[in-house]
Amino acid sequence: MKTIDDYNFKNKRALIRVDFNVPLNEEMKVTDANRIQAAKPTIIKVLEDGGSVVLMSHLGRPKGKESKYSLQHITAKVSEVLGVKVQFVEDCVGEEVEKVANDLEEGEILLLENLRFHEEETQGDEEFAEKLSRLGDIYVNDAFGTAHRAHASTTVVAKFFEDKCFGYLLAKEIKSLDKVLHSSEKPVTAVLGGAKVSSKITVIENILDKIDHLIIGGGMTYTFIKAQGGHIGNSLVEDDKQELALEILKKAKEKGVEVHLPVDSIIADSFSEQASTQTESVDNIPDGWMGLDVGPETLKNFENVIENSKIILWNGPLGVFEMDTFANGTIELGKSIAKATKNGAFSLVGGGDSVAAVKKFGLENQVSYVSTGGGAMLEMLEGKSLPGIEAIKN
Ligand code: AMP
Repeated sequence: MKTIDDYNFKNKRALIRVDFNVPLNEEMKVTDANRIQAAKPTIIKVLEDGGSVVLMSHLGRPKGKESKYSLQHITAKVSEVLGVKVQFVEDCVGEEVEKVANDLEEGEILLLENLRFHEEETQGDEEFAEKLSRLGDIYVNDAFGTAHRAHASTTVVAKFFEDKCFGYLLAKEIKSLDKVLHSSEKPVTAVLGGAKVSSKITVIENILDKIDHLIIGGGMTYTFIKAQGGHIGNSLVEDDKQELALEILKKAKEKGVEVHLPVDSIIADSFSEQASTQTESVDNIPDGWMGLDVGPETLKNFENVIENSKIILWNGPLGVFEMDTFANGTIELGKSIAKATKNGAFSLVGGGDSVAAVKKFGLENQVSYVSTGGGAMLEMLEGKSLPGIEAIKN
């Protein structure tokens, strides 16, 4: 795997694909600069080598040139975070852009306009990718969030470069996932929560060969419980996935994976923060009630497994954590993963909602790694190869 450390950028221009798809408020000010911060080590390495940097990114999903999606809005913030003046050009391809990029001196940074102002970007257009490639000597991909898309700037552009590599952020994502999926340390535990079995099924099937324990939580619990003959009241269920749930349990058993399902639930008489709540056996939920979080017995069981794990993967919340009333299970799970990490386990948290949860509950710095790409991470867990990663490897 070629990373940025394999190159010296002295007198070279690095064309870096970053993910600066950051949130903006109504005044077009950046409200969360984490993604800019995350790309900083890669950019600084090039500058310190004595090179210059051309940054390219998308922002939102513009339909053509919509000024509210201009990367000009974030230029000042990028300068502030990097501590270096950043120039901006009002396009990402063309003669004018090429001239500015060519004139860059050692230590200078150029930020291009939103790649998605050209529809060729998401189409993975070759001609457009070739035009982008004229802007740098070495191509660096540091955008994990878009690595599962075969877009011009994330994938196609790589073929026009002899010299190409992963930035620090993307390399770290790949290594973290690799550590989970191909670990020699044991036991390996995966915690899968979230709403539906259907969205996690390919992940489950792919990771069964690689784990020792599978903890299941969240809304998907109830499809498993109903399939086993339990009474789940009005809990979330995918009736057409019941057979699949039983098949998963059977396969897990054949492969020697221990599956841990909830034994009790916090149940509610409506899907609301103000609902009446009770603790009940997971398979004895009365009609009119629904399970919206895991109960105390379940948490004890889960904590026991987590405490004894060496490698932990967490994807998806254990309950409806967006509502305080049903956030306890997700918080407690996060805390026990943090504790295991402190005791030497490696923990990887990924997938939009569990990342949101660890951030919301301030546990971000207490786990080993928080992935920056929801969709990309899921696809890797599903065993797919990502075009953005393959393009560099080949
Ligand atoms: P996913 O995107 O599949 O990871 O699902 C995340 C969503 O699952 C979050 O918005 C949670 O509120 C929701 N969720 C978790 N547990 C439950 C549950 N018991 N019933 C309904 N929704 C749930």
